[in-house]
Amino acid sequence: MLKIHNLHAGVDDKSILKGIDLEIKPGEIHAIMGPNGSGKSTLASVIAGKEEYEVTKGEILFEGDDIGELSPDERAHKGVFLSFQYPVEIPGVSVTNFIKTAINETRKAQGLSEMPAKDMLKLLREKAELLDIDRKFLSRSLNEGFSGGEKKRNEIFQMAMLDPKLAILDETDSGLDIDALRIVANGVNKLKTDDNAVLVITHYQRLLDYIVPDFVHVLVNGKIVKSGTKELAHELEEKGYDWIKEEVNA
Ligand code: ADP
Ligand code: MG
Ligand code: MG
Repeated sequence: MLKIHNLHAGVDDKSILKGIDLEIKPGEIHAIMGPNGSGKSTLASVIAGKEEYEVTKGEILFEGDDIGELSPDERAHKGVFLSFQYPVEIPGVSVTNFIKTAINETRKAQGLSEMPAKDMLKLLREKAELLDIDRKFLSRSLNEGFSGGEKKRNEIFQMAMLDPKLAILDETDSGLDIDALRIVANGVNKLKTDDNAVLVITHYQRLLDYIVPDFVHVLVNGKIVKSGTKELAHELEEKGYDWIKEEVNA
């Protein structure tokens, strides 16, 4: 599904990603861990196509196509979803209306007509039920006065509605509370199929007790320096990142 080959990227003259290789197949959950400032969020942004970052070398293939020149919207329409670390408040636009617009924009980009209102309603109900989301929540203004848990609920709901092929969840380093963590984890686990894939980015191991990854990669100073299974995440929780940095420098 996703193949990243020798990816180098940065901003202005600063090099941040220094040769990333990563392959994600359908059905897999990958986790990227690493110390603060190692380039985790940059990697997420570059995959999603955020224009502030410049790719200087390497390629990103999504389902065999080089997506390096595509805009964030075009990538989203192909099925790449990136959760936002800092969601914007949009007073007067409800959770439901926001997602309806996003879905119809995607359909338009794919050459499809708008989803009939009846089908949209059915989909909204289905996904809200799956994720235990209250009807009242759906009519609230987007992110206005949302708690941390509610922001996560909204994010997971958007993911459920858009049904991306690849979901990238970049979790802030400033700890999710346990409630928010469970919402994210339950959502991901319910939405996971053999056909889609998830890339979870996190500073802490705790989230990975709930979302069990097939592969864990450690990013240090813009490079994946170690890959393993979920045991690697436990090792990092116990021993921190210093031993890996030492291994890299040795
Ligand atoms: P992480 O998510 O692992 O904490 P980031 O990808 O956010 O790391 O950042 C990696 C490095 O790149 C940091 O030194 C950060 O300051 C720098 N960086 C990231 N984005 C920008 C940007 N837009 N402008 C300048 N520097 C940036
Ligand atoms: Mg950071
Ligand atoms: Mg980050």
